[in-house]
Amino acid sequence: MTTLHKPLAPDATIGIIGGGQLGRMLALAAHELGFRVHVYSDKKDSSAFDVVRNSTCAPFDNWARLADFLNNVDSVTYEFENIPAETAAFIAARKPLFPSAEVLATTQDRVKEKKFVNALKIATAPFAQVNTSMELSAAFAKIGFPAILKTARMGYDGKGQVKLEKGDDLASAWRSIGEKPAVLEGFVKFEREISVVIARSLDGKTAAYEPIENMHRDHILHTSTVPAKITPALAKDAINIATKIAKALNYVGVLAVEMFVVKKGAKRELLVNEIAPRVHNSGHWTIDGATASQFEQHIRAVAGWPLNAAKRVGKQVVMTNLIGDEVLGWDKFAKEPGAAVHLYGKGAAKPGRKMGHVTRVKV
Ligand code: AMP
Repeated sequence: MTTLHKPLAPDATIGIIGGGQLGRMLALAAHELGFRVHVYSDKKDSSAFDVVRNSTCAPFDNWARLADFLNNVDSVTYEFENIPAETAAFIAARKPLFPSAEVLATTQDRVKEKKFVNALKIATAPFAQVNTSMELSAAFAKIGFPAILKTARMGYDGKGQVKLEKGDDLASAWRSIGEKPAVLEGFVKFEREISVVIARSLDGKTAAYEPIENMHRDHILHTSTVPAKITPALAKDAINIATKIAKALNYVGVLAVEMFVVKKGAKRELLVNEIAPRVHNSGHWTIDGATASQFEQHIRAVAGWPLNAAKRVGKQVVMTNLIGDEVLGWDKFAKEPGAAVHLYGKGAAKPGRKMGHVTRVKV
């Protein structure tokens, strides 16, 4: 494993693995700080390619192309967590990789991640590991109904998930998730969903944004709002949870922790749903609504720089995703005074595809 021994000077090159909108916004933030960027993606139509001088389009196991890319960069990061373990190991052996390959190994697998979180004495929804269809009924006996069956790996935006009620056919649920290793989670009747986006620097300092309230539509994030409608005490608890997780992972970069707020009598309890080892959709509001964006914070961290302040500007900030056809209303948003329109240059507006977002800051 290699690391950075001093902060990168402007003109150094940051390598980004993955070329979607997160990679694109990371590249834009890196350029603001004077860095060069090289994006490596396995997809020809990567929207991050449009905003960088250097790019490589090759599979993640093309070792020759990967070696060329690594010769050209000073520090490497990624915009998505499903990087094959061998690719992460190949990178980490040659260049500083932030967050580390160990972080990827923990967060790529829902079961490993939940066990890691519970070991920190942080609560999650009750869960049971399910590796075979035989194990599924035992898992239901333990967890009860309703429950959600999720593939252990590679799920996002509700993909690889199925909700199960009493009487549902377990065999067909197992088939519907591709008969892959999975986790069965108790269905949480949450009051609201929040996330904490936190940055941690190479020297272990953290800067967390306040908790963000998230609304989903069809399993896809629809709006993120700050401040979240929670008490200051609960906000503090949420930030403490994210800080504890970042520290335990020896994390460098931006991390998002998604949590459920559950009503327990007059009290509220926080359950961690998921850790995203990267910049996160619920943090997009920070581009227009905070002293520094999550993308700037992430680039600062992976360059070995100190972090900036992570403070909201304005009374309220609301970020709305433009999913699929919603992007066709761009001309309406463009006319709206004060609305910050961000379009990802992705071409065809397929259903469920994140095409852009609009942020409104109430001053
Ligand atoms: P995930 O892919 O785990 O982030 O789940 C996507 C969304 O599904 C979450 O943001 C929740 O809205 C919902 N969800 C996931 N797990 C649960 C659960 N155990 N109970 C209730 N809702 C859930």
